[in-house]
Amino acid sequence: MTLPNGNGHDAQTDPDPSSGMPARRLSMSDNLGRIALRRPSFGRAASLRDGPRSRTISIDETVAAMSNLAAYDEDADVQLPKGASPREAKLPLMKENYRLLLAHLGEDPNRHGLINTPERAAKAMMFFTKGYDETIQDILNDAIFDENHDQMVIVKDIEMFSMCEHHLVPFIGKVSVGYLPNSCVLGLSKIARIVEIYSRRLQVQERLTKQIAMAITEAVAPAGVAVIIEATHMCMVMRGVQKLNAKTITSTMLGVFREDPRTREEFLTLVNGR
Ligand SMILES: [Zn+2]
Repeated sequence: MTLPNGNGHDAQTDPDPSSGMPARRLSMSDNLGRIALRRPSFGRAASLRDGPRSRTISIDETVAAMSNLAAYDEDADVQLPKGASPREAKLPLMKENYRLLLAHLGEDPNRHGLINTPERAAKAMMFFTKGYDETIQDILNDAIFDENHDQMVIVKDIEMFSMCEHHLVPFIGKVSVGYLPNSCVLGLSKIARIVEIYSRRLQVQERLTKQIAMAITEAVAPAGVAVIIEATHMCMVMRGVQKLNAKTITSTMLGVFREDPRTREEFLTLVNGR
């Protein structure tokens, strides 16, 4: 489902730190689904072929779930994550590096308008990559509930801001996540937090998509997970092909979303319905 983009993202060979697997394009034909299905927790997938059922999270519920995230992001331009980050000790060095960068660009780092820019830029970059300071385990404590709920859960259009690891410029877009619980469900706001933790790092969209799906799989061992990301890459918009409206779409379908076309179609219909 990924559109050809010609922006240097085509040849993915970087190792994926989360899984040790080589990063690559993901699609519905990807064999990740088979890998996931070997997990014992995916054992009840067959019974779901009798007819997928669904429950879509209402907009109100989603907004309520997202409000925690909004509070977390207040003063987003300068505020670093709470608690000591080992990376914060590097701020003076980062500041000096930005000062050198300004000089190499042909600017005078001492002119009035730029005097505090190295520090601001270093803090901003720390914020853009604050996902390195958090782990999935940090946010999941007390957020997994044994609800015996086996209807599809969808949270769609989660706003996503990430940084392209090839050009260090942003790519921004929306993430839609669906999963079919096995019995455990995840607190709704935690889905958005998982997106946040992985997107606030240096990323490629393909790996980000897969990491979100794998995190949900590991958290609640659902019968299936689907993740779709639609994003605009500044490295395509501002340089390279300079196509303002080009969007890159990536998807990861695991478990029943990969095995059962009706479950997948139901998810796609609910996500695409406006
Ligand atoms: Zn790029």
